[in-house]
Amino acid sequence: MKKAVGYIRVSDMGPKAKVNLKESQETQLSHIKNYCEQKGYELVEVYEDLDYSGGTSKRPAFQQMFNEIKHKDNDYDVIVVYSLSRFARNLKDLLVHIDIMEEHNVEFASATEEFLRTDNYMGTFMINILGAIAELQRMQIAETVRDNMIGIARSKGRFLGGIAPLGYNINPKTKKYEINNEEADVVETIFNMYLEGKGIDTITQHLIRERALGREKYSKSTIRSILVNPIYTGDLHYNRRKNIGEDRKKWNGEDQWIVNEDSHTPIISKKIFNEVQKLMKEKSNNNPFRNKHKGSKHLLSGILTCGNCGNHYFANAKLNGSGNKYEYYICSGKQRHSRAFCQAKGIRVDKIDPLLIDSMNHIINQDMLLKLFNKQFEEYTSSSKKKLSEKLNLERQKNKIQEQINRLVKKVIESDDKRLEEIYEENMIELKEKSEELQIEIENFDEDDMYNIESLEAFKKMLVKGDKFELTMDFVKMLDKELQRDIVSRFIDKVIVEELENGNSKLTVKYKIEMEDLQIVKKINKVKVKEDFDERREIFNKILNHVAHCGYDDYTGPPVSLDKNELILKIIKHSQMLIHQCL
Ligand SMILES: [Zn+2]
Repeated sequence: MKKAVGYIRVSDMGPKAKVNLKESQETQLSHIKNYCEQKGYELVEVYEDLDYSGGTSKRPAFQQMFNEIKHKDNDYDVIVVYSLSRFARNLKDLLVHIDIMEEHNVEFASATEEFLRTDNYMGTFMINILGAIAELQRMQIAETVRDNMIGIARSKGRFLGGIAPLGYNINPKTKKYEINNEEADVVETIFNMYLEGKGIDTITQHLIRERALGREKYSKSTIRSILVNPIYTGDLHYNRRKNIGEDRKKWNGEDQWIVNEDSHTPIISKKIFNEVQKLMKEKSNNNPFRNKHKGSKHLLSGILTCGNCGNHYFANAKLNGSGNKYEYYICSGKQRHSRAFCQAKGIRVDKIDPLLIDSMNHIINQDMLLKLFNKQFEEYTSSSKKKLSEKLNLERQKNKIQEQINRLVKKVIESDDKRLEEIYEENMIELKEKSEELQIEIENFDEDDMYNIESLEAFKKMLVKGDKFELTMDFVKMLDKELQRDIVSRFIDKVIVEELENGNSKLTVKYKIEMEDLQIVKKINKVKVKEDFDERREIFNKILNHVAHCGYDDYTGPPVSLDKNELILKIIKHSQMLIHQCL
């Protein structure tokens, strides 16, 4: 008797669950059972992926089934599915798995598509053809859905699913947004407070204190998402985000947005909205946790200060006599005005940068570094933990709602009463909206600079041995300039440069931490740069690049430029060995 294994996949059930009714878990199972009985197979196991759509790759039960096939934990003879579309995501996927099955002498059978069997030549051929057709269909369905949405968006500006944002209701008949006066007042307050210079934190606290709209809870991410939502200007935007995997969305570029202008009554004028966007951008640039001169590739631009005229130095590049390019810092006062305004000389970048980093070695003692590090570490971890638990809480709420949805769908499926669908439809839409609202909040967490606790701890382990701190300045020098800059600018507020009459330079280092100024008097051009410095940095940068492009395991998208801070934590987590080999 052949040993059969059944595989069932039920698609994610949304408000449009009717589409899936035909292929419910029960239906699939009974077809598989019947088929096995007919063929005289012994059905020894059934793998089920519930709520997984064919378009995404995560199918845990499917993977488990193939693991067992590959490792011969179970000697199945045939896999039985309800239909081909339950089994493979696309032609390639199908062929890959059919190949594996062939290798392990496992046949394929579809309970409703009788000719689909791998035990004959014709069946194999048909599987290839059908696989391609199924793939084409899925692509077409996705396109049709999108085209329809775009069409409706352009012509009518109707509400297209999703949630009514705070401030609006959805008119059940016209499906258009209508102002909810009470909520709209709160939205206005949020925008006005922000324009008055209040931070998102303050606004959130204010709303909680006031128990605005009778609610006790407001989250910062909700307030932020209100402040950036163009819906309040009366425009409808579609296609702002795209799915990049199960439950994950990504912002589309503005050129891909579909805008339906003046589709409903605005709450906020476009002028005010634009001012708020501008302000938000400025504020995020001034965030102390971000690098003040983000994008600046030079360690000391903006930090070096002219003792002569008080202006900042910035970096510039020049060719020397033999045609090689070299970089130097120059006083911006001199550059802007004239030689007569300020006579400060340019300073070679490759001479002064290492000098300043070395100076940190001398003045920052281990105890202090350790204290600073621990303090910052605790701040990061406690806020990460807090955020994480908030996020988990939201996820729990969302799961609960999903369960409710599933129960409703089940009720509809199990009942023969056609009217039940209509009765539950509104319920279902409401639940779906809530779930999506929670999803947006959950995603907002990811968009924040949330530090990964695990990586932080790995980072700490690497840098702190017992009570000794091992972040030496040599290590700092191996990092790329942007990261060096991040570290240096955490400690050093500014460095005042004065030119002495004997040709030496006097550097006065002022710290951000409680620490006496340091004075360095040196002929800067004579500073020696360690010979192996560039080579080691090059190796390190190679690792950075590698990890950025193909490194860590949870990353599946195209290459992105990561915040260097985040990147180094990831590198340390995933390439510790590699780094040790290079050092
Ligand atoms: Zn100057």
